[in-house]
Amino acid sequence: MNTTLTIDINKTSNSKIAATNFDDLKFGQTISDHMFVAEYENGSWGNFRIEPYAPLQLNPANATLHYGQSVFEGMKAYKNTAGEVLIFRADANQQRLNESARRMCIPEVPEEIFMEGLKTLIQVDADWIPNKPGYSLYIRPFVFATDDYLGIRPSEKYKFIIFTCPVGNYYAKPVSVKVESKYTRAAEGGTGSAKAAGNYAGSLYPALLAQKEGFDQLLWTDGKSHQHIEESGTMNVMFIINDTLITAPTTTGTILKGITRDSVLTLAREMGVKVEERFLRVTELEDALVSGTLKEAFGTGTAATIAHIAKIHVNGNDYELPEIDQSAFSNQVLDKLDQIKYGKTEDNHGWIIKL
Ligand code: PMP
Repeated sequence: MNTTLTIDINKTSNSKIAATNFDDLKFGQTISDHMFVAEYENGSWGNFRIEPYAPLQLNPANATLHYGQSVFEGMKAYKNTAGEVLIFRADANQQRLNESARRMCIPEVPEEIFMEGLKTLIQVDADWIPNKPGYSLYIRPFVFATDDYLGIRPSEKYKFIIFTCPVGNYYAKPVSVKVESKYTRAAEGGTGSAKAAGNYAGSLYPALLAQKEGFDQLLWTDGKSHQHIEESGTMNVMFIINDTLITAPTTTGTILKGITRDSVLTLAREMGVKVEERFLRVTELEDALVSGTLKEAFGTGTAATIAHIAKIHVNGNDYELPEIDQSAFSNQVLDKLDQIKYGKTEDNHGWIIKL
């Protein structure tokens, strides 16, 4: 590889790969052998290394544990039938990591460090990328504060780590969702558009309440009035009403700028589908459910790519959505995205990095 970055590589002498059952992968529970680590100190990143995946040593006064100065990313690598490694839209994840970092007063990770660290790690652990349809290697880059200091101020030291997990299909079956009318995930002026650790902690309790009522996920509404739909669980959400695809805009700072969202919208426009990036009001959603004009609803995200929604609970009523058939937009776009990710079709968008 052509790189100016010096990365020390210390490979494990005790690989877990032979003991791993690739037919039974639970999302995020099987972790590959190595991780990439970089450290930020005195205003710059250094100490680049690949080392065996292992526990970290942290002091109890570690700033992240108390004040949550931590941002992360989620992306995937695939293998084509020739066994070559393809990484999907890593440049977009690198940019988004830095957008999140800026919001949380975390130093940005320069493109070269992110990309070279990523490529080196993926090459070292290439055998961990499953070579089966629907399977991939989930990649988790993250940055967190490492000062040992109990005052509230931006940390002066950070760690940037990337580790990976081989994964199968995330959501196998369509999900049921409930429109949330009390809690909120993100407020205008808040941190909703950052992939910041604390956002996920804050969403656990409302999600748990919904699960106790029998729903898989929430449809988050805006924090001010709960009158329009923002996201679904940890995915962006799209609706097809009549023949128009509607999804929330990313201009309010309350929506994560999903890379799958952007990919789906790009493909939808190319397919000639009418796209509206605007907020869907809860009343409009309910009317479309009652009248039957809501044809499809689905979440978009790296983990699942497309998560079909089968049932929506709104204002005390349950509505079943039409069965998703082969010709549905969400199936077509999922298929197109899979073709690109697994290298079965030409990458006209510059979305694939081939190692
Ligand atoms: N919204 C939230 C809150 C998320 O956590 C995610 C997952 N990263 C998404 C949307 C989807 O983003 P992406 O398509 O980039 O995975």
